[in-house]
Amino acid sequence: MNNFSYTRVDDVATAVREIADHGAAAFIAGGTNLIDLMKENVARPNRLIDINHLALAQIQAGENGGLRLGALVTNADVAYNEQVERRYPLLSKAILSGASAQLRNMATTGGNLLQRTRCCYFYDIATPCNKRQPGTGCSAIDGFNRMHAILGTSEHCIAVHPSDMCVALAALEALVRVTGKSDERVIPFAEFHRLPGNEPHRDTTLRGGEIITAVDLPAEGFAEHHAYLKIRDRTSYAFALVSVAAGLKMDGDTIQEARIALGGVAHKPWRDPQVEEGLRGKRASRVNFRPVAEALLREARGFGYNDFKIELAKRAVVRALQEAAAMQNHP
Ligand code: SF4
Repeated sequence: MNNFSYTRVDDVATAVREIADHGAAAFIAGGTNLIDLMKENVARPNRLIDINHLALAQIQAGENGGLRLGALVTNADVAYNEQVERRYPLLSKAILSGASAQLRNMATTGGNLLQRTRCCYFYDIATPCNKRQPGTGCSAIDGFNRMHAILGTSEHCIAVHPSDMCVALAALEALVRVTGKSDERVIPFAEFHRLPGNEPHRDTTLRGGEIITAVDLPAEGFAEHHAYLKIRDRTSYAFALVSVAAGLKMDGDTIQEARIALGGVAHKPWRDPQVEEGLRGKRASRVNFRPVAEALLREARGFGYNDFKIELAKRAVVRALQEAAAMQNHP
Protein backbone atom coordinates (compact mmCIF):
# COMPACT_ATOMS: atom_id res chain seq x y z
CA MET A 1 0.00 0.00 0.00
CA ASN A 2 1.37 3.43 -0.91
CA ASN A 3 1.34 6.47 1.35
CA PHE A 4 -1.73 8.66 1.25
CA SER A 5 -3.16 11.62 3.10
CA TYR A 6 -6.62 11.71 4.61
CA THR A 7 -9.26 14.38 4.99
CA ARG A 8 -12.88 14.43 6.10
CA VAL A 9 -15.43 16.64 4.39
CA ASP A 10 -18.83 17.75 5.64
CA ASP A 11 -20.56 19.06 2.53
CA VAL A 12 -20.82 18.10 -1.15
CA ALA A 13 -19.25 21.32 -2.46
CA THR A 14 -16.11 20.74 -0.40
CA ALA A 15 -15.96 17.09 -1.47
CA VAL A 16 -16.10 18.06 -5.13
CA ARG A 17 -13.52 20.80 -4.65
CA GLU A 18 -11.17 18.44 -2.79
CA ILE A 19 -11.28 15.78 -5.51
CA ALA A 20 -10.73 18.39 -8.23
CA ASP A 21 -7.72 19.79 -6.40
CA HIS A 22 -6.00 16.42 -5.93
CA GLY A 23 -5.62 14.48 -9.17
CA ALA A 24 -5.09 11.01 -7.71
CA ALA A 25 -7.50 11.34 -4.78
CA ALA A 26 -10.42 9.01 -4.10
CA PHE A 27 -13.65 9.30 -2.16
CA ILE A 28 -14.08 6.76 0.60
CA ALA A 29 -17.41 5.80 2.17
CA GLY A 30 -17.95 2.15 3.22
CA GLY A 31 -14.55 1.21 1.82
CA THR A 32 -15.61 -2.40 1.19
CA ASN A 33 -13.96 -2.48 -2.24
CA LEU A 34 -11.48 0.41 -2.19
CA ILE A 35 -9.56 -0.83 0.86
CA ASP A 36 -9.07 -4.24 -0.77
CA LEU A 37 -7.87 -2.55 -3.95
CA MET A 38 -5.44 -0.40 -1.99
CA LYS A 39 -4.07 -3.36 -0.03
CA GLU A 40 -3.39 -5.17 -3.31
CA ASN A 41 -1.77 -2.07 -4.83
CA VAL A 42 -4.41 -2.01 -7.56
CA ALA A 43 -5.72 1.38 -6.42
CA ARG A 44 -3.07 3.87 -5.33
CA PRO A 45 -4.82 7.11 -4.34
CA ASN A 46 -2.57 9.80 -2.89
CA ARG A 47 -5.43 11.19 -0.80
CA LEU A 48 -8.59 9.71 0.69
CA ILE A 49 -11.55 12.04 1.00
CA ASP A 50 -13.88 10.65 3.65
CA ILE A 51 -17.44 11.47 2.63
CA ASN A 52 -19.23 9.60 5.41
CA HIS A 53 -20.36 12.85 7.06
CA LEU A 54 -22.15 14.27 4.02
CA ALA A 55 -25.92 14.56 4.45
CA LEU A 56 -26.62 11.83 1.90
CA ALA A 57 -27.78 8.98 4.13
CA GLN A 58 -31.54 9.44 3.85
CA ILE A 59 -34.27 7.58 2.01
CA GLN A 60 -37.00 10.04 1.13
CA ALA A 61 -39.85 10.70 -1.28
CA GLY A 62 -38.53 11.27 -4.78
CA GLU A 63 -39.98 12.96 -7.84
CA ASN A 64 -43.19 11.76 -9.56
CA GLY A 65 -44.13 9.34 -6.80
CA GLY A 66 -40.75 7.63 -6.71
CA LEU A 67 -38.22 7.13 -3.94
CA ARG A 68 -34.82 8.77 -3.51
CA LEU A 69 -31.95 6.73 -2.04
CA GLY A 70 -29.17 8.94 -0.73
CA ALA A 71 -25.74 7.86 -1.94
CA LEU A 72 -24.60 7.05 1.60
CA VAL A 73 -27.54 4.87 2.60
CA THR A 74 -26.06 1.46 3.32
CA ASN A 75 -27.07 -1.55 1.28
CA ALA A 76 -28.63 -3.09 4.41
CA ASP A 77 -30.70 0.03 5.12
CA VAL A 78 -31.98 0.06 1.54
CA ALA A 79 -32.82 -3.65 1.53
CA TYR A 80 -34.71 -3.53 4.85
CA ASN A 81 -36.40 -0.16 4.33
CA GLU A 82 -40.17 -0.60 4.67
CA GLN A 83 -40.94 1.29 1.45
CA VAL A 84 -38.30 -0.55 -0.54
CA GLU A 85 -39.51 -3.93 0.71
CA ARG A 86 -43.12 -3.06 -0.13
CA ARG A 87 -42.75 -1.09 -3.35
CA TYR A 88 -39.43 -2.35 -4.77
CA PRO A 89 -39.01 -5.92 -3.48
CA LEU A 90 -36.97 -6.74 -6.59
CA LEU A 91 -34.30 -4.32 -5.36
CA SER A 92 -34.45 -5.62 -1.83
CA LYS A 93 -34.02 -9.23 -2.98
CA ALA A 94 -31.15 -8.36 -5.30
CA ILE A 95 -29.24 -6.57 -2.54
CA LEU A 96 -29.78 -9.39 -0.05
CA SER A 97 -28.45 -11.93 -2.54
CA GLY A 98 -25.10 -10.14 -2.61
CA ALA A 99 -22.05 -10.09 -0.35
CA SER A 100 -22.51 -10.81 3.38
CA ALA A 101 -24.48 -9.15 6.17
CA GLN A 102 -21.31 -7.47 7.44
CA LEU A 103 -20.46 -6.05 4.01
CA ARG A 104 -24.03 -4.90 3.39
CA ASN A 105 -23.91 -3.02 6.70
CA MET A 106 -20.92 -1.01 5.46
CA ALA A 107 -21.37 -0.78 1.69
CA THR A 108 -23.21 2.27 0.40
CA THR A 109 -25.57 2.91 -2.48
CA GLY A 110 -23.09 5.09 -4.35
CA GLY A 111 -20.22 2.73 -3.64
CA ASN A 112 -22.17 -0.25 -4.93
CA LEU A 113 -22.50 1.47 -8.31
CA LEU A 114 -18.77 2.21 -8.37
CA GLN A 115 -17.36 -1.14 -7.26
CA ARG A 116 -14.75 -2.55 -9.59
CA THR A 117 -14.76 -5.88 -11.38
CA ARG A 118 -13.66 -8.98 -9.48
CA CYS A 119 -11.64 -10.29 -12.45
CA CYS A 120 -8.80 -12.17 -10.75
CA TYR A 121 -6.20 -10.73 -13.14
CA PHE A 122 -7.32 -7.19 -12.32
CA TYR A 123 -6.37 -7.91 -8.69
CA ASP A 124 -3.07 -9.60 -9.54
CA ILE A 125 -0.57 -6.85 -10.29
CA ALA A 126 1.90 -9.43 -11.66
CA THR A 127 -0.34 -10.00 -14.71
CA PRO A 128 -1.20 -7.76 -17.69
CA CYS A 129 -4.59 -6.05 -17.41
CA ASN A 130 -5.88 -3.22 -19.58
CA LYS A 131 -8.34 -2.13 -16.94
CA ARG A 132 -5.69 -1.74 -14.26
CA GLN A 133 -2.91 -0.59 -16.56
CA PRO A 134 -4.09 0.51 -20.02
CA GLY A 135 -2.13 -0.89 -22.94
CA THR A 136 -0.70 -3.95 -21.16
CA GLY A 137 -3.16 -6.53 -22.54
CA CYS A 138 -5.93 -8.71 -21.19
CA SER A 139 -4.88 -11.86 -19.34
CA ALA A 140 -8.41 -13.21 -19.17
CA ILE A 141 -9.14 -13.60 -22.88
CA ASP A 142 -6.79 -16.58 -23.18
CA GLY A 143 -6.75 -17.28 -19.45
CA PHE A 144 -9.13 -18.69 -16.85
CA ASN A 145 -12.28 -16.83 -17.85
CA ARG A 146 -15.04 -18.87 -16.25
CA MET A 147 -16.55 -15.81 -14.50
CA HIS A 148 -16.13 -13.47 -17.45
CA ALA A 149 -18.42 -11.71 -19.91
CA ILE A 150 -20.27 -13.19 -22.86
CA LEU A 151 -21.93 -9.98 -24.08
CA GLY A 152 -20.57 -6.56 -24.99
CA THR A 153 -16.94 -7.63 -24.75
CA SER A 154 -14.05 -6.08 -26.60
CA GLU A 155 -10.60 -7.31 -27.59
CA HIS A 156 -9.33 -5.20 -24.68
CA CYS A 157 -11.42 -6.51 -21.78
CA ILE A 158 -13.99 -9.20 -20.98
CA ALA A 159 -14.64 -8.29 -17.34
CA VAL A 160 -18.11 -8.26 -15.78
CA HIS A 161 -19.67 -5.79 -13.40
CA PRO A 162 -20.08 -7.64 -10.11
CA SER A 163 -23.08 -5.89 -8.53
CA ASP A 164 -26.46 -7.48 -7.81
CA MET A 165 -28.07 -4.22 -6.76
CA CYS A 166 -27.22 -2.61 -10.10
CA VAL A 167 -28.99 -5.36 -12.04
CA ALA A 168 -32.23 -4.55 -10.22
CA LEU A 169 -31.65 -0.80 -10.62
CA ALA A 170 -31.21 -1.32 -14.38
CA ALA A 171 -34.50 -3.22 -14.60
CA LEU A 172 -36.25 -0.51 -12.56
CA GLU A 173 -34.80 2.24 -14.81
CA ALA A 174 -33.38 4.17 -11.87
CA LEU A 175 -31.70 7.54 -12.30
CA VAL A 176 -28.29 8.45 -10.91
CA ARG A 177 -27.93 12.00 -9.57
CA VAL A 178 -24.40 13.40 -9.62
CA THR A 179 -22.78 16.70 -8.72
CA GLY A 180 -19.63 18.12 -10.27
CA LYS A 181 -17.66 21.29 -9.74
CA SER A 182 -19.89 23.36 -12.03
CA ASP A 183 -23.21 21.54 -12.33
CA GLU A 184 -25.54 18.76 -11.26
CA ARG A 185 -26.89 16.21 -13.69
CA VAL A 186 -29.05 13.10 -13.84
CA ILE A 187 -27.83 9.99 -15.66
CA PRO A 188 -30.30 7.27 -16.74
CA PHE A 189 -29.11 3.99 -15.24
CA ALA A 190 -28.61 2.38 -18.66
CA GLU A 191 -26.08 5.11 -19.47
CA PHE A 192 -24.20 5.09 -16.17
CA HIS A 193 -22.03 2.00 -16.66
CA ARG A 194 -20.23 1.53 -19.95
CA LEU A 195 -18.97 -1.31 -22.10
CA PRO A 196 -15.18 -1.76 -22.20
CA GLY A 197 -14.52 -0.81 -25.84
CA ASN A 198 -10.97 0.44 -26.12
CA GLU A 199 -11.09 2.19 -22.74
CA PRO A 200 -11.73 -0.63 -20.26
CA HIS A 201 -10.18 1.40 -17.43
CA ARG A 202 -13.34 3.55 -17.50
CA ASP A 203 -16.19 1.73 -15.78
CA THR A 204 -18.75 4.54 -15.85
CA THR A 205 -19.71 7.74 -17.64
CA LEU A 206 -18.96 9.84 -14.55
CA ARG A 207 -16.83 12.85 -15.39
CA GLY A 208 -13.70 13.59 -13.42
CA GLY A 209 -14.50 15.15 -10.06
CA GLU A 210 -18.19 14.19 -9.99
CA ILE A 211 -19.78 12.61 -6.94
CA ILE A 212 -22.94 10.48 -6.80
CA THR A 213 -25.46 12.12 -4.48
CA ALA A 214 -28.53 9.89 -4.89
CA VAL A 215 -30.26 7.16 -6.87
CA ASP A 216 -33.87 7.88 -7.82
CA LEU A 217 -36.34 5.03 -8.18
CA PRO A 218 -39.33 5.70 -10.43
CA ALA A 219 -42.85 5.13 -9.10
CA GLU A 220 -43.29 1.74 -10.83
CA GLY A 221 -41.56 -0.95 -8.80
CA PHE A 222 -43.01 -4.16 -10.34
CA ALA A 223 -43.91 -5.28 -6.84
CA GLU A 224 -46.66 -7.65 -7.97
CA HIS A 225 -44.65 -9.58 -10.55
CA HIS A 226 -40.91 -9.71 -10.23
CA ALA A 227 -38.02 -12.10 -9.67
CA TYR A 228 -34.33 -11.87 -8.91
CA LEU A 229 -32.61 -15.09 -9.85
CA LYS A 230 -28.94 -15.46 -9.07
CA ILE A 231 -26.95 -18.50 -10.22
CA ARG A 232 -23.64 -18.86 -8.40
CA ASP A 233 -21.12 -21.45 -7.34
CA ARG A 234 -22.27 -21.51 -3.70
CA THR A 235 -25.45 -20.26 -2.09
CA SER A 236 -24.02 -17.26 -0.25
CA TYR A 237 -21.16 -14.81 -0.42
CA ALA A 238 -20.44 -15.44 -4.09
CA PHE A 239 -20.65 -13.33 -7.20
CA ALA A 240 -23.15 -14.26 -9.89
CA LEU A 241 -22.25 -16.52 -12.76
CA VAL A 242 -25.51 -15.24 -14.20
CA SER A 243 -28.28 -13.23 -12.58
CA VAL A 244 -31.61 -12.01 -13.89
CA ALA A 245 -33.82 -9.21 -12.62
CA ALA A 246 -37.28 -9.54 -14.14
CA GLY A 247 -40.29 -7.28 -13.69
CA LEU A 248 -43.66 -7.76 -15.36
CA LYS A 249 -46.90 -5.81 -15.49
CA MET A 250 -49.70 -8.27 -16.13
CA ASP A 251 -53.36 -8.18 -17.08
CA GLY A 252 -54.46 -11.66 -16.16
CA ASP A 253 -52.19 -13.94 -18.17
CA THR A 254 -51.21 -11.21 -20.61
CA ILE A 255 -48.00 -9.21 -20.32
CA GLN A 256 -48.44 -5.45 -20.54
CA GLU A 257 -44.82 -4.52 -19.86
CA ALA A 258 -41.61 -6.44 -19.27
CA ARG A 259 -38.21 -5.53 -17.91
CA ILE A 260 -35.30 -7.94 -17.99
CA ALA A 261 -31.77 -7.14 -16.84
CA LEU A 262 -28.91 -9.62 -16.72
CA GLY A 263 -25.94 -9.58 -14.36
CA GLY A 264 -22.68 -11.53 -14.50
CA VAL A 265 -22.64 -11.49 -18.30
CA ALA A 266 -21.27 -8.08 -19.29
CA HIS A 267 -19.28 -5.02 -18.24
CA LYS A 268 -22.62 -3.48 -17.21
CA PRO A 269 -26.09 -4.76 -16.37
CA TRP A 270 -27.39 -6.01 -19.72
CA ARG A 271 -30.74 -4.94 -21.11
CA ASP A 272 -32.39 -4.86 -24.53
CA PRO A 273 -35.62 -2.81 -24.42
CA GLN A 274 -36.53 -3.87 -27.96
CA VAL A 275 -36.55 -7.51 -26.95
CA GLU A 276 -38.58 -6.67 -23.84
CA GLU A 277 -41.08 -4.85 -26.04
CA GLY A 278 -41.64 -8.09 -27.93
CA LEU A 279 -43.36 -9.55 -24.85
CA ARG A 280 -46.05 -6.86 -24.79
CA GLY A 281 -49.47 -8.40 -25.39
CA LYS A 282 -48.12 -11.97 -25.22
CA ARG A 283 -49.28 -14.68 -22.84
CA ALA A 284 -46.92 -15.41 -19.98
CA SER A 285 -45.70 -18.87 -20.94
CA ARG A 286 -42.47 -20.76 -21.40
CA VAL A 287 -43.19 -20.95 -25.12
CA ASN A 288 -43.11 -17.15 -25.34
CA PHE A 289 -40.21 -16.72 -22.91
CA ARG A 290 -37.64 -18.93 -24.65
CA PRO A 291 -37.51 -16.83 -27.87
CA VAL A 292 -36.97 -13.77 -25.69
CA ALA A 293 -34.04 -15.47 -23.99
CA GLU A 294 -32.63 -16.46 -27.40
CA ALA A 295 -32.96 -12.86 -28.60
CA LEU A 296 -31.28 -11.43 -25.49
CA LEU A 297 -28.31 -13.75 -25.94
CA ARG A 298 -28.16 -13.61 -29.74
CA GLU A 299 -24.79 -11.86 -29.76
CA ALA A 300 -23.30 -13.84 -26.89
CA ARG A 301 -19.78 -15.17 -27.34
CA GLY A 302 -17.86 -17.44 -24.99
CA PHE A 303 -14.11 -17.48 -24.42
CA GLY A 304 -13.65 -21.12 -23.51
CA TYR A 305 -14.19 -21.65 -19.81
CA ASN A 306 -17.29 -19.43 -19.80
CA ASP A 307 -19.04 -20.96 -22.83
CA PHE A 308 -21.55 -22.63 -20.51
CA LYS A 309 -22.88 -19.23 -19.45
CA ILE A 310 -24.69 -18.72 -22.76
CA GLU A 311 -27.18 -21.55 -22.28
CA LEU A 312 -27.23 -20.92 -18.52
CA ALA A 313 -28.27 -17.31 -19.10
CA LYS A 314 -31.04 -18.33 -21.50
CA ARG A 315 -32.47 -20.79 -19.00
CA ALA A 316 -32.15 -18.27 -16.18
CA VAL A 317 -34.12 -15.69 -18.19
CA VAL A 318 -36.93 -18.17 -18.82
CA ARG A 319 -37.05 -19.23 -15.18
CA ALA A 320 -36.99 -15.68 -13.83
CA LEU A 321 -39.84 -14.68 -16.14
CA GLN A 322 -41.83 -17.75 -15.11
CA GLU A 323 -41.29 -16.92 -11.42
CA ALA A 324 -42.28 -13.28 -11.95
CA ALA A 325 -45.43 -14.23 -13.85
CA ALA A 326 -46.45 -16.83 -11.30
CA MET A 327 -46.32 -14.48 -8.28
CA GLN A 328 -49.71 -14.26 -6.64
CA ASN A 329 -49.04 -11.99 -3.68
CA HIS A 330 -46.16 -9.70 -3.12
CA PRO A 331 -44.73 -9.28 0.38
FE1 SF4 B 1 -8.13 -6.82 -17.01
FE2 SF4 B 1 -10.55 -6.76 -18.11
FE3 SF4 B 1 -8.80 -8.47 -18.99
FE4 SF4 B 1 -9.76 -8.79 -16.52
S1 SF4 B 1 -10.91 -8.95 -18.40
S2 SF4 B 1 -7.62 -8.98 -17.19
S3 SF4 B 1 -10.11 -6.67 -15.93
S4 SF4 B 1 -8.59 -6.24 -19.09
